[in-house]
Amino acid sequence: MNVLGIGCHPDDLEIGCGGTLAKYVKQGHRVFMCHVANGNLGHAVIQPGELREIRDREAKNAAAVIGAESISLDVGDLQPEASDKQVRDALTEIVRYTKADIIITHNPQDYMRDHEQVSSLAQDVSFTVTIPHLLTKTTGPGIFPPVFFMDTLAGINFIPTEYVDITEEIEKKLEAISCHESQVVWMKEHDKIDFLDFIRTCNKYRGLQSNCAFAEGFRQYAAWPRMHPRRFLP
Ligand SMILES: [Zn+2]
Repeated sequence: MNVLGIGCHPDDLEIGCGGTLAKYVKQGHRVFMCHVANGNLGHAVIQPGELREIRDREAKNAAAVIGAESISLDVGDLQPEASDKQVRDALTEIVRYTKADIIITHNPQDYMRDHEQVSSLAQDVSFTVTIPHLLTKTTGPGIFPPVFFMDTLAGINFIPTEYVDITEEIEKKLEAISCHESQVVWMKEHDKIDFLDFIRTCNKYRGLQSNCAFAEGFRQYAAWPRMHPRRFLP
């Protein structure tokens, strides 16, 4: 399968489904990690222009740890809009180019608006990819890929309906998150938040719920004709 993660900021997919993506890679699937926003406002000291470049490098390093291909839409932070036709068409092209058999994205409700807008865009392109007269660089139309929502930050207001055992992938996931130094180091030094411990705790709790050591939780976007009788998650 070709697996396409559509996240908002350069570290969001690693946080929400990094273990699952690594597991897909281990099983021989091809994984693409697309972030819509470039994360240029995600620091209190580093200026946006410089941070944009730093975060692009960090995203590529993290994708390499997971074994995935990194794609950036390079939209500025606080700019993603579900109604943005240009971004929607660019994302449609990515779904076609990657020949995505499954899309993983943010939950429709999360802790910040950019995530929610990207979730809406991902749901949208799981439909627009099939429209023959919506022309993009890669010749369409594609199939209707099933869409899965990954956990919210800290799991708030999210009850998974499917779990992926990531016990063997948890260290790789944390290594990928560690690549986002501009975020992880800053949070530890200035906000006193140990983000790796934060993520480990969340995944341990999802593991507790699903009878394994560490897990990631998901919900499926329930919309015709994206439902299938077989399991798509690893
Ligand atoms: Zn984010």
